[in-house]
Amino acid sequence: MNLIEKSKKHLWLPFTQMKDYDEDPLIIESGEGIKVKDIDGNEYYDAFSSVWLNVHGHRKKELDDAIREQLDKIAHSTLLGMTNVPATELAEKLVTIAPAPLTRVFYSDSGAEAVEIAVKMAYQYWQNKGREKKQKFISVKNGYHGDTIGAVSVGAIDIFHQVYGPLMFKGFKMPVPNVYRHETGDPIACRDECLQGLEDVLKEHHDEIAGLTIESMVQGAGGMIVMPEGFLSGVRELCTKYDVLMIVDEVATGFGRTGAMFACNHEDVEPDLMAAGKGITGGYLPIAITYTTEEIYEAFYDDYENLKTFFHGHSYTGNQLGCAVAIENLRLFESERIVEGVARRADRLKKILDEELKDLDHVGDSRQLGFMCGIELVQNKETKESFPFESRVGYKSSLKMRELGLLTRPTGDVVVFMPPLVSTEAQLREMILIMKEAISYVTEKEAAHLAQYQE
Ligand SMILES: *Cc1c(COP(=O)(O)O)cnc(C)c1O
Repeated sequence: MNLIEKSKKHLWLPFTQMKDYDEDPLIIESGEGIKVKDIDGNEYYDAFSSVWLNVHGHRKKELDDAIREQLDKIAHSTLLGMTNVPATELAEKLVTIAPAPLTRVFYSDSGAEAVEIAVKMAYQYWQNKGREKKQKFISVKNGYHGDTIGAVSVGAIDIFHQVYGPLMFKGFKMPVPNVYRHETGDPIACRDECLQGLEDVLKEHHDEIAGLTIESMVQGAGGMIVMPEGFLSGVRELCTKYDVLMIVDEVATGFGRTGAMFACNHEDVEPDLMAAGKGITGGYLPIAITYTTEEIYEAFYDDYENLKTFFHGHSYTGNQLGCAVAIENLRLFESERIVEGVARRADRLKKILDEELKDLDHVGDSRQLGFMCGIELVQNKETKESFPFESRVGYKSSLKMRELGLLTRPTGDVVVFMPPLVSTEAQLREMILIMKEAISYVTEKEAAHLAQYQE
């Protein structure tokens, strides 16, 4: 049996309709720089950073060496009741780059776990403090925080989450500031309306609300919705005013992705809890973290008999190989000035996106913060009418891009462009030209087909 047959026979892939996979299988074998290569030797730009992870490209020598060096000492030992060398060193480094009040690091293996941990910490914080009524969470409509049940409960993307409704804990939802879809199209009006929506809920229910979860500055999986200026800081003010813990999800946006180390730095927001993952190891190994404050940490610190311990942990928490590569990743962030590089090239990137894509007949909106971009495809640019759900223009465009030598994965009809942070201006342009060709081809074909059908 060849590899493709084996994959079709035995694998079940995440977030994948396997019927789609069986029609268009793909097996990656190697990577170099910002490209990956499949088992037939075809090369592709990694235009989504292997689902939002990659920073320095593939096979970065310093990262490879850091893992080999650690391997000569030990691959893994537990963090339950003890620690290890790289996990300890990394925690210190992580605290120095975080917003000032975040002084404690709790490790896990994925972004979903990091959010789940933040939610449990926020809940137990109030229990430990004797404010038992504060048990609920408020989250943002259309938000995404990962796929475990706790993370799904604070998420709100109907197409992913509705089916699990009966399994989820109930909470409050606040509106999302989607400027493109707001009736006025005005960022300020859109922002203020959503903040008012939040305050309405907080005013009435703050006594029963433990925390608020929110993606930082950009809703990722929900369609690359860039929040208007002053929104995140407005949410921070309201959380403080109503004594609700602010849990910021930086899993997608953290580690330079938006042109700041963390996206909340854009508005000097200081969360009470902050989840991060993805770019933390440069896209190498599964490490995630939940940051918190000394105040929250202290609410759990007591004699064991008082049962205030945070009873949560995973087998591979604080894995040495992962922590070692994360330390080297952070060293490279400094020596290669990665964040500054993204911030500097972000304007050029915006210009290229505008020049090449804005005028296409079916590009309704192009949104961007740093190297986090979404291109929304619509059937009718004037009315902003979407393509029918069954058209799958986002998915079809991504298949066309694959044919043309570029990998990405859309969220619905929003084409995602999240290249590795080291991509040069020339590479960015080349990738965008491939996307342009695929988007034009697929959307024009689909629109013609629909026009014929509607006559
Ligand atoms: C990817 C993502 C997660 C989940 O992270 P995993 O490592 O896939 O579990 C959570 N929140 C946001 C904002 C993400 O983009």
